[in-house]
Amino acid sequence: MKFNEIGEFGFIESIKKQCSTSSKNVIKGIGDDCAVFRANSNRVFLFTTDMLVEDVHFLMDKITPYQLGWKSVAVNLSDIAAMGGIPLHVLISIGIPVKTDVELIKDLYRGMNDICSHYNVNILGGDTVASKDKLIINISLLGDGEEHSVLYRHGAGPGDKVYLTGNVGDSAAGLNILQNKISFSYTDKDYFIKAHNEPWPLVETGRIIATSQLAGAMIDLSDGLLSDLGHICEESKVGASIFEEQIPLSRELRLLSSRENFNPLELALSGGEDYVLLFTAPEKNIHAIEQLSREKDISPIVMIGEITNEEGIRLTDSYGKSTFVRPKGFDHFSELS
Ligand code: ADP
Ligand code: MG
Repeated sequence: MKFNEIGEFGFIESIKKQCSTSSKNVIKGIGDDCAVFRANSNRVFLFTTDMLVEDVHFLMDKITPYQLGWKSVAVNLSDIAAMGGIPLHVLISIGIPVKTDVELIKDLYRGMNDICSHYNVNILGGDTVASKDKLIINISLLGDGEEHSVLYRHGAGPGDKVYLTGNVGDSAAGLNILQNKISFSYTDKDYFIKAHNEPWPLVETGRIIATSQLAGAMIDLSDGLLSDLGHICEESKVGASIFEEQIPLSRELRLLSSRENFNPLELALSGGEDYVLLFTAPEKNIHAIEQLSREKDISPIVMIGEITNEEGIRLTDSYGKSTFVRPKGFDHFSELS
């Protein structure tokens, strides 16, 4: 069935059953003029939104509808993770071309609902409109946390160590494979495509880091390592020095890059959409952080460098030669112009 046959209200009725709410704090989800839920007392709200536009953020032939639903929620969850919060409720608004298959949107909601269920997030409503010819998805996510444990971009200071909570570059390799810019003759391409299309936001990891009180600043890697580290530097009015050899790359990416003869560093530094967390912590917390990553059930934590008081980001290669590097993260308005 096509979208112009089922209509807005028929569609809303059909997804009502597909949208999960699990919290006892939800009084009213989909089906009224507003959603109604109880707030947890003594906590601050974290509120984020992200919009995905067909042909700008995704291409329908490079991602399945299920993955698109998953990823559109995942990128918002990652923003809550980056501040150490707990995700709670989402609103999902979509602009749907009238000739769209209803099944496609149902698959999209299956992906959204699966990731929401996994993280105990309630789908509390949204809006549905017709779009001329592109699919548009906007997700708003509300989370909460303790005021004193929220981690901002502005909390880094000179001498702090810089850490990553996972590998970088896999997602960018996936995108390059999808765009036929990297051949994949010998490699399992699904690993990379999954990294790009079905990222796992590090909500638990972000939470453990924030509540440990060991870190100063945190951000999730959406634009690319250099670009996102650049955001921390800018907001904290500091610089950074990182070491090429310490940047964590997956075994799969090392293998792919040596077989296909390219330098994985470019993807790792500027690729983006890794959705791992980058955080800084005072030097005195080194051992406590090592212990945290050993004892708690979180993603591996790797130190990649330190915060400096000189402006810019310095990259030191395996021969000890260091140069200033400029971020080449994704910027919408420069990419499109
Ligand atoms: P109103 O016209 O009062 O804004 P709507 O008819 O747009 O109400 O929506 C009716 C209900 O369905 C509301 O609870 C709204 O949040 C929900 N809803 C509408 N579109 C979506 C969607 N795409 N995903 C989830 N819930 C939706
Ligand atoms: Mg409406």
